[in-house]
Amino acid sequence: MQNMPVALVTGANKGIGHEIAKQLAARGYTVLVGARDLARGEDSAKRITGETRAVALDVTNEGSIAAAASRIRREFGRLDVLVNNAGIAKGGAQTAAMLADIAQSGAPSVATLADVRAVFETNVFGVIAVTQAMLPLLREAPAGRIVNVSSRVGSMTTISDPAYPHRGIGGVAYGPSKSALNAVTIAFAQELADTAIKVNAACPGYTATDLNNHSGPRSVVEAAREPVRLALLGPDGPTGTFSNDAGPIPW
Ligand code: NDP
Repeated sequence: MQNMPVALVTGANKGIGHEIAKQLAARGYTVLVGARDLARGEDSAKRITGETRAVALDVTNEGSIAAAASRIRREFGRLDVLVNNAGIAKGGAQTAAMLADIAQSGAPSVATLADVRAVFETNVFGVIAVTQAMLPLLREAPAGRIVNVSSRVGSMTTISDPAYPHRGIGGVAYGPSKSALNAVTIAFAQELADTAIKVNAACPGYTATDLNNHSGPRSVVEAAREPVRLALLGPDGPTGTFSNDAGPIPW
């Protein structure tokens, strides 16, 4: 078991993160099911076949991140895969968030700065903080992989395209947080270009989860496909890319 590769998925107690954890466990990874509520993480881990452990991890809490990193070092001494999946659509109100509501609440003229800050805190600063804390462990792995779960609404090319049918959908909080996450992905990929670590961003597609009140047409199984593919990239795989399961997405 010590020789099994180890993967950490943030926000894995439900939704796409739970499915990513499930698929990585099925591929022989020991999966650390990150959850800010440990009991819900344990429940999620129990529902996955394979080697799993729940890890308390609130990506907005420095102490929680440091404790998770210490525990992983103590128990495994390395980390092979980090999937930065945890995300919110607006400040803490994701369960009621219909996609249209995301746009409305994040609309430039009405979004509250508190909501914008909360979204950036989780979707951007949380990713930077978790990645920084886990990097020493990823460097201990033979071929570390970092996957940032982003969104097409973070693509500046897509959202500025007059033909894009969902213009405005990302609002001023969620969409920009994913654009920033994409830039963060490139920054880490460039710094780590001379190492064995690859850093990529994936869009799961519009998926039925609590984030959008289950309005998305895709299943979590389909949504997990691209993040999992990027987590399993071989040595010839790319770094610093943004894609979904249909191929590359323009920045
Ligand atoms: P869910 O709301 O189902 O799951 C989000 C997960 O993130 C939950 O486990 C949640 O935990 C966790 N989370 C939120 N804040 C924190 C935090 N501070 N610390 C740790 N965990 C946290 O949403 P999805 O599964 O749909 O979203 C997963 C990712 O996919 C997100 O990054 C989202 O932006 C992205 N995405 C989703 C799309 C979709 O259509 N669903 C489309 C494009 C991208 P808790 O249960 O405690 O709230």
